[in-house]
Amino acid sequence: MSITRRGFLGAGAAFTALSGCRMGGAANAGGKRWYKGNLHCHTFWSDGRAFPEEAVFWYKSRGYNFLGLSDHNVFQEDTDRWVSIVGDGTALKKPRNDGSIKYRYQPTVNYRYFDEYVKAFPDAVTRKNADGGIEARLSTFTELSARFNAPEEFLLLPNVEATRSVDYANGRRNQLHMNYVNIPQLLPSYLEKGFNRREKDIPLASFLAAHAQEVAAVAKARATPHLFILNHPIWTWYDVGPEVVVENPLLRFFEVCNNGSPFAPGAGLPMDGFDTDRFWDVANAFRMRRGLPLLYGIGTDDTHRYRGEPGNMLMPGNAWSLVRAGSLDAASLIAAMRAGDFVTCEGLEPEDVAFDPSAGRLEVAVPAGQRERTVRFIVSKRDFSEKPVATTVVRPDNHKDETTFERTINIYDEKIGKVVKTVVARPGEAIRASYTMESNDLYVRARIEEVGVPLCTASLHPQGLHVAWTQPYANPSI
Ligand SMILES: [Zn+2]
Ligand SMILES: [Zn+2]
Repeated sequence: MSITRRGFLGAGAAFTALSGCRMGGAANAGGKRWYKGNLHCHTFWSDGRAFPEEAVFWYKSRGYNFLGLSDHNVFQEDTDRWVSIVGDGTALKKPRNDGSIKYRYQPTVNYRYFDEYVKAFPDAVTRKNADGGIEARLSTFTELSARFNAPEEFLLLPNVEATRSVDYANGRRNQLHMNYVNIPQLLPSYLEKGFNRREKDIPLASFLAAHAQEVAAVAKARATPHLFILNHPIWTWYDVGPEVVVENPLLRFFEVCNNGSPFAPGAGLPMDGFDTDRFWDVANAFRMRRGLPLLYGIGTDDTHRYRGEPGNMLMPGNAWSLVRAGSLDAASLIAAMRAGDFVTCEGLEPEDVAFDPSAGRLEVAVPAGQRERTVRFIVSKRDFSEKPVATTVVRPDNHKDETTFERTINIYDEKIGKVVKTVVARPGEAIRASYTMESNDLYVRARIEEVGVPLCTASLHPQGLHVAWTQPYANPSI
């Protein structure tokens, strides 16, 4: 059975019912406005289950201003990339990957998806192959940009999710997933080593730093501003501890929220309060002590499924970033993000965020909601101890495959990630709250929460909590 374009669009409508507190709209006094975007989603160019037009249309039609299609180990610029249409719509084939350097992640697409695609986009390019089967051509980044970009309304950014495994002598395997934005090419080391390359026995910190350096070098050679982002660091099978990201000044961004989730499903997390907020504070406390720049947290969907297919995880519309920039272009958006002038949202958006560096004061305005809303100001204290106060061994309980292993998590003292002020607004009350840093605060950030129904029913949404995060602001007196 096929569904119409209306049906395709309707499938996601429930995920966008925000309360109208969106900061976008009229430019503020500084001539800047808030732009909403998602920098992590997938299409048939890799393991996402949508043609690229469908993915872009989903976001643009819901008011997103920028988007990066971050397919695994490929930049969507091959000019002659075809997928075979298979099946009759009753069964979904598993994605295949033949491991060649020429990327062939998912060479077949189920007929059900194709049927929806050609109804929504009748100019889809198709052909018959020698066996009489249908093939469809995947549109490229350039074609998608030409089709969807509109001044001050929508911008597609080049994006790739660099994806690598490292095997260790003890049998353990880790994966690192990293997005690089606004560099329209695959990294030279990936072209050289092929899609499926597995590294051996490289410490994760070195491997991450090598990626950061390669991305920075390519960006420099192209003379283009860029972002380099560590994705879902503490997912069960992508386990990267905060210690791994300390000595890495080129890494400025990580996903504090991936598809609305701060942590992996199952696997005993969060353990002793360990989630991406904790990860963030540990990383930044250590980094500031070493004079390294703060790590900023972004929110993304990591969309793989767009229609509520069985499994129903990694759906669109869960987490996004609002960037305060002068105009909707790559240079302005990236400059604003590198300056930390953005907020990260999962179902909740603040009204305004302001930091006064001369006073060391962070101020947050939150509109009234139908439920209680809470603002927590969080700091790390200058005299924290780098020695863990405890270690916790986490054993996976529901991902019993060969890539999942127990791991040890360090728990640090309460001076890292300390909540120093909490302001609660009852339903119908707006909040305007501020915190002025004390001399022994390394930085301050705010986390805004509202108990609520997840925007989608993905299995990665265990909390029923909407959250917005400001970025951390360094204490200017340090
Ligand atoms: Zn990933
Ligand atoms: Zn991804």
